[in-house]
Amino acid sequence: MPASPPLLLTPRIEPITQSVLDASALLRQLADGLGSPLNIVVPEALDANVEAFRAVYRRHRLRGHIYFAHKANRSAALLRHLAATDAGVDVASLAELQHALGAGFEPRRIMATGPKSREFLWLAARSGITVNADSLDELSELAGLVAARRLPRVRVLVRLAEFASRGVRLVSRRSRFGVPFDMLSEALDRVDKHADQLELVGVAYHLDTIGLPEKAVALEGCLAALDECRRRDVPAWSIDIGGGFGVNYLADGEQWDRYTSELAQSVLGRRPPLTWNGHGYGLRNEAGTLRGTLGLYPAHRPVSGPAYLDQLLSTTAPEQRRPLGTLLLDSMGDLDIEPGRALLDQCGLVLARVLEVREGADTLVRLDLNARDVSLEEHGVLMDPVIIPGDSAGIAGPAEVFLLGNLCLESDLITRRKVVLPVRPRPGDLLAFVNTAGYFMDFSATHALRQPIGRKVALFRRGDAWSWCLDEQYWPVPERTEAA
Ligand SMILES: *Cc1c(COP(=O)(O)O)cnc(C)c1O
Repeated sequence: MPASPPLLLTPRIEPITQSVLDASALLRQLADGLGSPLNIVVPEALDANVEAFRAVYRRHRLRGHIYFAHKANRSAALLRHLAATDAGVDVASLAELQHALGAGFEPRRIMATGPKSREFLWLAARSGITVNADSLDELSELAGLVAARRLPRVRVLVRLAEFASRGVRLVSRRSRFGVPFDMLSEALDRVDKHADQLELVGVAYHLDTIGLPEKAVALEGCLAALDECRRRDVPAWSIDIGGGFGVNYLADGEQWDRYTSELAQSVLGRRPPLTWNGHGYGLRNEAGTLRGTLGLYPAHRPVSGPAYLDQLLSTTAPEQRRPLGTLLLDSMGDLDIEPGRALLDQCGLVLARVLEVREGADTLVRLDLNARDVSLEEHGVLMDPVIIPGDSAGIAGPAEVFLLGNLCLESDLITRRKVVLPVRPRPGDLLAFVNTAGYFMDFSATHALRQPIGRKVALFRRGDAWSWCLDEQYWPVPERTEAA
């Protein structure tokens, strides 16, 4: 018997994901037929996520667009399904824009973000989508394209960055993206200069952080920017607050707290290592003192996704001392958001086959996928896979194992954390890495060693059962009815 209970990090599994896992015969068939790794997306899980964000809008009596940040997953099925909802899409490359247009999004529901190539700007202008400008030169380049071809005016937002607040001693960190807040008037001058080509509809930010105070400062900065627009008689009405609402990955906060404190103990040498080669995830032992900072995503986040948006809107503005949501309502501005990860909560999973179980000082489980096929480790998210046993039941566990990838590379560990599985896996079993649609599924996948990139299938309901098709075959077309 172990002295302490096993260090589990049980994933949060909502009923829709559980119902997919319950279809284990189908999952095994799919992995047999289409190979490992296999990416599974569940487009209809998007509906609840869009609706949950909409509910927050209603609670704060706000209007605006929900733009899904496409970069979080390349799936066609997810995008096409989303096109059938009232959500829009945030595209960050020429190919993503082409994909969005082809999935059925009309231009009003598409926004281009990030730094853009000339071709990307051209197609944006030509198709009449909204451009979230990343720099002053980009505004001029876009205006030049519009003028050269005499296109209609393009709706633009200016992405701002590096906000500062007098109320609190907090300045948002440096960013490669956007126009520094203190250059707002130059930005407005630039749009003004191209008034025949550009129509300013608002200002934006996207901060790659989950820190609420930083976002409160940025949102209040954007409100001030809208005021400045109105002083200049520019009728801008939108504030786009980007993404970064986050996902709660773990079922149990106590497991997370216990894991992180035991990790600290192990780094200090007070308990056996919990990781491959004693990796500390950013923590280190300096002569008996714990140093460094934990470089992990806070995988247990009870306030995430729509609840995080709700909390941000309920936060008191650092300068005006009123809730940000109320200030927005009073300003009669629209609230636009660009959630990526949060909209994909429970929208997919990655299946991997167990190739080998090697016993030794540690049990090594080699999987037929690599650390890029399910890039949880790269993104600092620790959560246990779910085991889908082969024909017969596995040997009762729990089993402490390291999960190795299929590349001839020392560093190809699916996670450097020692994982506790409820049963000892055997070759042929499948492991399901659940809730991996946002960034972990295909963002980093490569053909290293000519290993295949996982195929992607979409699951959809036919009556009571799950049906499937290849991702690129999925369209949210209603079924034929007799009446038709
Ligand atoms: C990546 C990105 C997002 C989405 O971020 P999430 O953390 O996935 O919500 C939104 N907007 C921009 C500009 C981005 O670059």
